[in-house]
Amino acid sequence: MSDYRVLYMVGPGRSGSTVIGEILGQSQHVANGGELLLWWMARQSSPARRCGCGERLDTCEFWTKVSQVHPALSSPDPAVVAGLYRFRRFSTWPGLWWKSRNGQVAAPQVTELMVQLYDAIALVSGSSVIVDSSKSPGYRLLLFGSNLQVQTLQLQRDPRSVVNSWRHEKRDPTSPGDSLFAIHPLRSTVEWIAQTLATRWFIAPRLRPHGFTVETYEDFVQHPRRHTESLLAFAGLDERESLFHDDTHIHLEPTHNLAGNPGRRGATERQISLHERWPDELPTSLYLFVTVACAPWLSRYRYRFSRRSSS
Ligand SMILES: [Zn+2]
Repeated sequence: MSDYRVLYMVGPGRSGSTVIGEILGQSQHVANGGELLLWWMARQSSPARRCGCGERLDTCEFWTKVSQVHPALSSPDPAVVAGLYRFRRFSTWPGLWWKSRNGQVAAPQVTELMVQLYDAIALVSGSSVIVDSSKSPGYRLLLFGSNLQVQTLQLQRDPRSVVNSWRHEKRDPTSPGDSLFAIHPLRSTVEWIAQTLATRWFIAPRLRPHGFTVETYEDFVQHPRRHTESLLAFAGLDERESLFHDDTHIHLEPTHNLAGNPGRRGATERQISLHERWPDELPTSLYLFVTVACAPWLSRYRYRFSRRSSS
């Protein structure tokens, strides 16, 4: 058993995992790694990508130290890294689930590489909790083959909001390599459904009640202080001092997070609140399509069907 815990976020992209990871990372016991599955790709990216601390990834002191902990981290076997990225495809998830359910480790070398990265982050940061917002169910399934203590957070966001967000590029003028591309609405809808189904069918039943929790982004930002405290407790931390000034305001220091949402570097005072743009921005045809396609889950996560709130 590891002497640290991983808080692994699983769910669709553009669900608010970047800001939640940054908030949790304000705890002195937490290392917010961001989307760790992208670590190997991000380090070789051209143009160079930036760490959440503002440094280039290849010059950030934290990640340089991490890469020096184990030879596999600075010069991994390319075949293993290629295998790692294969498990982002949802066609691989049923097979991973089936093997892990039967006690087999589907890809031992890939799992080993992930564990080496977590071990190195724990060693360099001295933190007892590592936040990984990779979000892919495939990587969570791979971790069933490890001895790590993993707490899994299913992060959901209204699919209309997710699809609307993916329609827009997020450019990062200071670091073009960190810009987020737009995704076609059909693809982002299918991914939302696939991620949700895989999490509910393949992951949650094996972890409930203590190793798994569900959080919607909308609930989190309505009461950020309270939800932050409960997430830290879920990760096994007894954080006695609130990270917030009041119910919604927080001072965010930069964390060494990978990828995620660009444009959030540097210390800042933030008010955490909900800004729903999809009711004004999503074309009616798309609103109807996504609402119908995701209807079975809207009521489960207490999302309204209508475009406008009745209150
Ligand atoms: Zn950094």
